[in-house]
Amino acid sequence: MEIIMETKLFDVTDLESAEAQLKEAASLLRAGGLVAFPTETVYGLGADAMNSKAAEKIYAAKGRPSDNPLIVHIAEEEDLARLTDVVPDAAKKLMKAFWPGPLTMIFQKKETVPDKTTGGLDTVAVRMPDNPVALALIRESGCPIAAPSANLSGKPSPTKWEHVYQDLNGTIDVILQGEPCRVGIESTVLDMTGEIPMVLRPGILTPEQIGRVTEGKVVLDPALLIHRPRDVSEEAAPAPKAPGMKYKHYAPKAEMIILQGEHSRVKEEIKRIKEEKEKQGSKVGIILFEENGFEQAAHDFFSQLREMDENHVNLILAGALSDKNSVGFAVMNRMWKSAGYHIIHV
Ligand code: AMP
Ligand code: MG
Repeated sequence: MEIIMETKLFDVTDLESAEAQLKEAASLLRAGGLVAFPTETVYGLGADAMNSKAAEKIYAAKGRPSDNPLIVHIAEEEDLARLTDVVPDAAKKLMKAFWPGPLTMIFQKKETVPDKTTGGLDTVAVRMPDNPVALALIRESGCPIAAPSANLSGKPSPTKWEHVYQDLNGTIDVILQGEPCRVGIESTVLDMTGEIPMVLRPGILTPEQIGRVTEGKVVLDPALLIHRPRDVSEEAAPAPKAPGMKYKHYAPKAEMIILQGEHSRVKEEIKRIKEEKEKQGSKVGIILFEENGFEQAAHDFFSQLREMDENHVNLILAGALSDKNSVGFAVMNRMWKSAGYHIIHV
């Protein structure tokens, strides 16, 4: 990657002693700069959401397609009024139940929210992150902060500050060096603009949890339910409603194959294929979680993908989790994409 500026690294693991750095980072945000910061889901790449030029810089730094809207982060519920005039009752209940937390909600946007921030849509995605560094930074900056994941577009999302450094050192103003992310996968995205709340991107916060607050009213974007095997063409599948969900994502450098089936069978097959491929000279990496270790899998998945690249693995064999579990489904939604839907049933 080309280094075009000095990226400042601020250790914020002890928030109290990092007050001066946080102030500096916030003032850079106000001036239209880019600051990467920890959240509970993944690291975010922040810019002033109300400043078109600042939002534009995010797309440039990430190499992100311009039709892929950004999630706007706020620290107080009152700040929602700066972004939308239409907050349905169900959204108010969900906010009470889950903010701060890994739930992004989509609302009709106010005219003052720049098109750059919303990828040209007339809706805006908003969330309140559950991380003290993120909340302090947003408060100190005084602006709503647009922040997609702080990785190069197409690469696995960053769950440690080191991942952000690998992708964006030299192209952004600041990296706040916080703790590794607690959740490890991106937020659940829920569209609140229709009759019934619709999950556009699955996350650690499940439809079951949402349904308990909305009297059972929640549906999944039908595009999420299509597990496209490799040979089904992109055109045959319905387009997802969250623009970002259509892009090839999270791709490691290595070829990746998912093995799906009964857990002990999967384990055996992975071992067999590994031995066979190693004899042919491949460097093989394995991603295999405990059968019901869904949250741990969410926590570890992206960071394991990055480790594979660091270790110059050229074939990754990954065991599928059950997608009948909602968190398992959220992890599998990422894993299917990482593997380009290359799945072997065993
Ligand atoms: P990231 O910021 O990398 O976590 O990606 C944000 C995700 O939220 C992408 O999949 C976007 O397409 C989706 N998103 C953001 N804003 C909207 C919106 N207004 N309508 C639908 N999807 C959105
Ligand atoms: Mg992302």
